[in-house]
Amino acid sequence: MTFEALNLHEALVRALQAAGYTEPTGVQAEAIPPALAGKDLMVSSRTGSGKTASFMLPALTKVLASRSLPATPGSKARGPRVLVLTPTRELAMQVAKAASDYGRFVPGLRVATVVGGVPYGAQLAALRGPLDILIATPGRLIDHLGSGKAMLGNLDMLVLDEADRMLDMGFIDDIRLITEATPAARQTMMYSATFAGHVGRLAQELLRDPQRIEVSSQTEAHGDIEQRLHWADDFEHKNALLDHILTEKNVDQALVFTSTQRDADWLADRLHEMGHSVASLHGGMPQGRRNRVLQGLRSKQLRVLVATDVAARGIDVPTISHVINFGLPMKEEDYVHRIGRTGRAGRTGLAVTLAERRDSGMIHRIQRYTTQRIPLATIEGLEPKRSAPLPMPAGAPPRGGKSFGPRPAGGKPFKPAGKTFAKPGFPRPAR
Ligand code: AMP
Repeated sequence: MTFEALNLHEALVRALQAAGYTEPTGVQAEAIPPALAGKDLMVSSRTGSGKTASFMLPALTKVLASRSLPATPGSKARGPRVLVLTPTRELAMQVAKAASDYGRFVPGLRVATVVGGVPYGAQLAALRGPLDILIATPGRLIDHLGSGKAMLGNLDMLVLDEADRMLDMGFIDDIRLITEATPAARQTMMYSATFAGHVGRLAQELLRDPQRIEVSSQTEAHGDIEQRLHWADDFEHKNALLDHILTEKNVDQALVFTSTQRDADWLADRLHEMGHSVASLHGGMPQGRRNRVLQGLRSKQLRVLVATDVAARGIDVPTISHVINFGLPMKEEDYVHRIGRTGRAGRTGLAVTLAERRDSGMIHRIQRYTTQRIPLATIEGLEPKRSAPLPMPAGAPPRGGKSFGPRPAGGKPFKPAGKTFAKPGFPRPAR
C-alpha cells in the first residue's frame, strides 16, 4: 500500500515524502479511506502507531477542498474548518506540529492552538484572523466560546483525540458544549483506547453511523518495546536500580515517570546532583518552562526527563530509548501510555518498571489490563533480597534468571540499609 493509493492530494503526498514516510501505517491505511469518504469513525490505535496522521491527512484534505470553493457572497461564516480537541497542552502542541509538517505544501495553511496555561493575547489574535485548523484543549476553548471569540459554525470536521483521557479529566460537559456550537452536519472522528462505558455513550451521542476501527488493541504485545519488571526491597534499592540503569551505555534518552509532581522534582534534583543532564516536567510548571524542557529533550541537551503522567502525554521524541517507571501510575491504562513513549517511529525501546512490594496490586492490575505478564528481571549485584510477591508466569525465566551483566567498575555498591539519597533538608517525598 502506498500513500498515492490512498488518493491523497499531491500536496500531502509530497509532504509525506519530505518526512521520509514510504508507506502508510496500519491505522493510516484503515482510517484514511473511510475518513476521506466522509464517514464518522471510532478509532482505537495505540500511541506511536501513526494515528495523528490518520486524522490530520483527511483534515488537511478538507482544508484543500475548502480552498477551491467559491466564497459565498454575504456569508459571515468564520472560524476553522477543522477542530481537534486533545486532553493536554503537550498533545495539542504535538498535533499542531503534525498539522504544519503534513500541511507544509498546503498554500497559506493557518493553524492555531488554544490551550490553557498560556496568555490569551496570541490566541485571541489567531482566533480573529482566518483559520483552517484549530487545535484546543476543552477548558480554554470553552473560555473563548463563552466570550464569543471562537466560532465553530464553519466546521467541517471534529476530531476528539484521546477521548477516554478527556473524559477521565472531567471534560465531558465541555465537550458537549463545544459540539453544540458546531454544525450538526460535521464529520466526527473519535480516538480512544476504549469505547466501553462513558466513552461509548459519548460516541453514540456525537457520531452518526460510525465505522469502528481497531488497529492494534491496547492489550496487544508491543513488539517493539521490551518490558522488564524489577522488584525492589525498598526505596533505596529502587534508587540504586535506577542509578544502575541510567549509567548503561545503551541509554540514548530516558523518560523516568514518578507518581507525583513532588517526586518528579525531588528525583530530578537527585539525578542532577549525580551529574546527569536531567530536568523535570509536570503540570505544576508554567507552560513556557515546559516547552523549554521539551525543546531540551528534542535537541538532546537533556538525557533524562523525570515526568508525571499528565505532562508526558503527547511527548513524541523518537530517541527516547528507555521508559522507566520509578513511581507506578495511578491507572493501569497510563502504563500503556507511558511505555508507548519509547519504541516510536519504528525504533526499539525498553520499558523498565521498578516496583516495591506495596506496588504489587497495581502490577496485578496492569498485567490484567494488558493481558500480559511483565517479564521479571534482575541486575547482578542488585538482586532483591525478598522473594517476588507475584507468582511467576509460565515460561518466564526463574527468579534471578535474567541478568544484565556485571555492574560497571566504579559503580556505587548498593547498601540495602543505611545510606539515604535524600539531601539533608530535602526530605524524601511523602509516600
Ligand atoms: P503518532 O502515533 O501519531 O504519535 O505517531 C508516531 C510516530 O510515527 C511519529 O513520530 C510520526 O512522525 C511517525 N509516523 C507517522 N506516520 C508514519 C509513516 N507512515 N511512516 C513512518 N513514520 C510515521
